Amino acid sequence: MPTPLRVTVWNEFVHERTNEVVKNIYPDGIHAVLADALREHLGTGVQVRTATLDEPEHGLTKEALKETDVLIWWGHAAHDKVANKVVRRVQKRILQGMGLVALHSAHASKIFQRMMGASCMLRWREAGERERLWIVAPGHPITSGLQGEYFELQHTEMYGEYFDIPQPDELIFLSWFEGGEVFRSGCTWRRGAGKIVYFRPGHETYPIYHDANVRRVIANAVQWAAPSGAAYVGKGRNIPEPLNRIENPIAEQDVH
Ligand code: ZN
Repeated sequence: MPTPLRVTVWNEFVHERTNEVVKNIYPDGIHAVLADALREHLGTGVQVRTATLDEPEHGLTKEALKETDVLIWWGHAAHDKVANKVVRRVQKRILQGMGLVALHSAHASKIFQRMMGASCMLRWREAGERERLWIVAPGHPITSGLQGEYFELQHTEMYGEYFDIPQPDELIFLSWFEGGEVFRSGCTWRRGAGKIVYFRPGHETYPIYHDANVRRVIANAVQWAAPSGAAYVGKGRNIPEPLNRIENPIAEQDVH
């Protein structure tokens, strides 16, 4: 793992400036609280920078991404404002090995949909109901430090199945909601040399990113998604010279 791990926390930073409830919970923005959670848990092992939608190239220039090992993504109200050029650039970096941790409503972000190749849509309800997140991959590094078989959030927005995602490589958390739905709340995938985590909690009108368990999981997810250093093999390769002699090669014109 690169030391210190270089993390960029990306936030569209819209609701915290337009909604009084959200402003009170996250006066400096969700990105500031997430950055704080990483420093709390990873200390000198992490070097955190933040980036927001309004910055030039959304703060995700080629240079910035080159110096990012793991990218955290938070967006909700302005997914369509993210430039396609930047999305393609982020995808390329993920394939080359950069980790992506997509939080909550990032399920509908351009970058997450692009990496998943699916709509990533789901059921939802804003009723401030209780959520119980069951650990369904005990011993997985993303669950490290959690006590017991589940943890709870007292007031959350509900996300319910069916969640239109490709089958996760690993399912880490399964949520139960007071109103009856269930949801795959913690999932991982690999794309190219990069690792992707989706973690559900985080609706902006509840103080979710101040919750100790949630903060721990996000720090764990960032560590898990760190680049392995493996080379990305993503280019087509024509191999006219065989490795071993082919006995009776058939030329292409003979086949057609
Ligand atoms: Zn939400």
